[in-house]
Amino acid sequence: METKCWNVDNSVNKDKVYPQIVDAAKILQLGQVVAFPTETVYGLGANAFSDEAVQLIFQAKGRPSDNPLIVHIANNNQLAELVEEIPEGAKKLMEAFWPGPLTIILKSKKQVSKFVTAGLSTVGVRMPDHPVALALIEASGLPIAAPSANTSGKPSPTSAKHVFEDLNGRIAGIVDGGSTGVGLESTVIDCSQEVFTILRPGSITPEMIKKVVSNIEVDPATVKETEAPKSPGMKYKHYAPDAQMHLVNGSMEFIHKLIHNAKSEGKKVGILTTEENINQYKADVVLACGKREDLTTVAASLYDCIRQFNEENVDIIFCESFPYEGIGIAIMNRLWKACGHSIITE
Ligand code: AMP
Ligand code: MG
Repeated sequence: METKCWNVDNSVNKDKVYPQIVDAAKILQLGQVVAFPTETVYGLGANAFSDEAVQLIFQAKGRPSDNPLIVHIANNNQLAELVEEIPEGAKKLMEAFWPGPLTIILKSKKQVSKFVTAGLSTVGVRMPDHPVALALIEASGLPIAAPSANTSGKPSPTSAKHVFEDLNGRIAGIVDGGSTGVGLESTVIDCSQEVFTILRPGSITPEMIKKVVSNIEVDPATVKETEAPKSPGMKYKHYAPDAQMHLVNGSMEFIHKLIHNAKSEGKKVGILTTEENINQYKADVVLACGKREDLTTVAASLYDCIRQFNEENVDIIFCESFPYEGIGIAIMNRLWKACGHSIITE
């Protein structure tokens, strides 16, 4: 399959018609899949009402079929087509954080494809805060089911180049709207029960959510997965670089020793650090992932750094730890998964 590419300036003006977006929207209406930028990561979209279209997403990504998809909407009318009832607390969350990186899980209507919900009685919905995503969804007139536009297991794509690397030839098109902003997937909150549960941490933090609703808990499995995670996607390998990555809980001297030992075994060593410490390491590939003093910059470049290690063909990666607060919770959650839970403590 030939994958079409459209370039769209991400300062899309709501009142203008963009032929690229019209073209991409038509392909979605025809039941094909199209990758597009959101403020979190690139999504791989398809008509959420079509079993055939949604199955193409799973095929292109190699995604396990029991891992449900998030449905993206551009306005509240579309919400009514997807969910049965909206509790007061969920409405407050939508008012506070939509459009934005918060996925809200609610009881699903029957017309949502069972492949979207993976057979669950609930559906995850969000309104992305990205002009290109909103324009595309609006132009298609469809709710768009969209997981991250990467090969299953790989880091999520934060640029059209990442999507191209993973999915060229496997999908109908890619809308290139430049680099995404947040760089980590949305926060997921289950609002289908009396007590709301945060199932996946993201840039909308538990503190921010607690300011809007009080009936919430954080599923312990969101950070350290349990045997039976509430969110099916949590049990799968995610975000992993080709080489084994280890999260290090220890001093810089300790990391120097780890580098020394790995090198003496003849390994090509990668270090994931931040701009503050980039000159402190002597390893084969030392990458700065944003600035430690501003963790939003770490989130924004994390997946690109993990992909760069693949290009450099390193044998082993040691990664610094980050403070477990604010967006640091989401960063550490993704790093734990990327490392397959391999943590080396001093
Ligand atoms: P991705 O689309 O790759 O960002 O993954 C979507 C995440 O949302 C996965 O971890 C899913 O398991 C989770 N998710 C989507 N819909 C539901 C749902 N109805 N119930 C629980 N988790 C969900
Ligand atoms: Mg994903």
